[in-house]
Amino acid sequence: MAVGTLATVKSLDPEDLRTIGAQMILANAYHLHLRPGDELVRDFGGVHRFMGWDGPMLTDSGGFQVFSLEGLRTVSEDGVEFRSHIDGSKHVFTPETVMQIERNLGADVIMQFDHVIPGQSEIGASREASERSIRWLARCVTALEKLRAGGPPPKNTILDFPPLPGTIFPLPAPSHPQALFPILQGGIHESLRVEAARTIRDVGDWRGFGIGGLSVGEAKPDMYRILDVVDAELPRDRPRYLMGVGFPEDLVEGVKRGVDLFDCVAPTRMGRNGAAFTRDGRLNIKRAEFRTDPRPLDEACDCSACRRFSRGYIRHLFVSDEILGHRLLSLHNVHFLVRLMRDARAAIRAGTFDAWSRDWLARYHTRPVPSA
Ligand SMILES: [Zn+2]
Repeated sequence: MAVGTLATVKSLDPEDLRTIGAQMILANAYHLHLRPGDELVRDFGGVHRFMGWDGPMLTDSGGFQVFSLEGLRTVSEDGVEFRSHIDGSKHVFTPETVMQIERNLGADVIMQFDHVIPGQSEIGASREASERSIRWLARCVTALEKLRAGGPPPKNTILDFPPLPGTIFPLPAPSHPQALFPILQGGIHESLRVEAARTIRDVGDWRGFGIGGLSVGEAKPDMYRILDVVDAELPRDRPRYLMGVGFPEDLVEGVKRGVDLFDCVAPTRMGRNGAAFTRDGRLNIKRAEFRTDPRPLDEACDCSACRRFSRGYIRHLFVSDEILGHRLLSLHNVHFLVRLMRDARAAIRAGTFDAWSRDWLARYHTRPVPSA
């Protein structure tokens, strides 16, 4: 999934994403609740219509964000009280309020509100967070059922306005069903992960599963070990979503362990910092050696940046702090990940994934020093 935290994939138009072949966008309930407000998004017909994207969308619940507000939050069994990082205003997230927010935003897949803790937490804290997340899941289910059974959406003057000519979203959110994904916690402790997977698996017919609490400061071998454990416990016919991951190599390692969905700000954030993904590893376009380099970012890439512009030109844009530089690298990086996943799917279908992933990882990790 391309990450559009604030209902925009930074510097990319939804039209770009369609051209690239991106299939799904992620937005964030915490951020959209604070600004511009989930009720405003609802009045515009939901997040799809608000941002002009007619493909699938997922909203994260904001659990990760509110638990990251160290010093600005109080946690209880009921939920989390916190102060906004924007203006210090007070808010309360509970499973119930978060379901209302995600209902207002109207994404196709919504994540449960969960208790997130740092990656290296010891088993006691991990158990507490995992068990609380499971209790909160039950509250999310009840709250969502109530919302679905509720009356018609409130009167809305914004939606009375005729749709803009280029928009094709007749359905005002949230009149469509939304799939609630549970989130597995349990830190880096195998027994907790197994317990969480079995409990959650047995209490509902979930359309998919979130794997949370990874890529939050633990070592990579720990993440891979936990993914192996979770892979064996979850039903094979439902998508598994590894939250907040990752870099190209993480995607390949994740697919190897049965993961289907990923999200990460890396392609656009790295792009804005001048880093491009290539088959030979990461490249920093700001380096002096690219000043006279006439080649594209990645010679095998067919994105619109690589088809038209040289490394030398893109380096010039970055050195001059030109906004097009940020856009071109974001475009290339998102394209790179979309294509990587397309190649992985093709390899799986052809029965050649093991060899394909071994070769891909070997080449990516070799990282020869790029020459000008
Ligand atoms: Zn490219």
